[in-house]
Amino acid sequence: EYLIINGVECEPYLTADHRLMLEKADEILEGIRIVQKIVGMPEVRIAVEINKPDAIETLERKILERGLEFQVVPLKVRYPQGDEKMVLKAVLDREVPRGGLPLDVGAVVSNVGTVYAVYEAIVWRKPLIERICTVTGQAVARPANLKVRIGTPIGEVLEDCGGFQEPPVKVVLGGPMMGFAAVDLSTPVTKGVSGIIALGKKEAALFQGNPCIRCGRCMAVCPWGLFPTVLYKLIENQEYAAAWEEGLPDCKECGCCAYVCPSRIPLVQAFKYGKLMSRKK
Ligand code: SF4
Ligand code: SF4
Repeated sequence: EYLIINGVECEPYLTADHRLMLEKADEILEGIRIVQKIVGMPEVRIAVEINKPDAIETLERKILERGLEFQVVPLKVRYPQGDEKMVLKAVLDREVPRGGLPLDVGAVVSNVGTVYAVYEAIVWRKPLIERICTVTGQAVARPANLKVRIGTPIGEVLEDCGGFQEPPVKVVLGGPMMGFAAVDLSTPVTKGVSGIIALGKKEAALFQGNPCIRCGRCMAVCPWGLFPTVLYKLIENQEYAAAWEEGLPDCKECGCCAYVCPSRIPLVQAFKYGKLMSRKK
């Protein structure tokens, strides 16, 4: 029924999709036409948050010029709205059942970067060998969005941005909420690396975790209605099967619970570890 194009990019710092929508709007629209034909969805909605008014204006103008029937849906700025189930809820007010797919509620969700890659693959026969990457953070001398070859060591990308203006406390791949810390600067860029964020001293305080005080804040903010404190306890006790039953696979590792936790408990790291251990069993 619906092809939803996700241009939300809700994580702080990241602007790669935003730049892509501004600079490659024609190619994105062509990519949407191709995907629409492949999946056979008659209706197209392009979701963009209202903090990108120039992207909304550009897409609407190009849609009009080309006589397309796509609709741009401006959304309130909310994290983690970039998740496909969240964007579906925001655009169509439809909820994907637990363990289900968007197709179960009559929709296919695709990212703006994906439809652009489809355009390049079909029109130019170009495989996915590069991606747009946001290189930023207080430690970076000249923050920029760069087109980066997949496999390039992140150190070379950072060099291209003038290197470091202060020693980074941590270099994160992806967004600050859902990304992960790079082990070293030889780590390669993969197709999923939307950002390289070199956090400076003021941005990345290192905290010592304290015991849970049962305040319940983590439960109140979890967008998927999970009980993070319960999951954490089960994982801490190595009860991985019980954590799985409690909803561990539904955790999107969005980081909302860890962000509000006054005890600074590394909840997301525990959930990642718990998933790994559950799969090993
Ligand atoms: S990281 Fe997982 S448990 Fe925590 S708020 Fe996000 S989805 Fe919920
Ligand atoms: S927010 Fe932190 S301290 Fe509060 S209940 Fe959750 S895990 Fe415990």
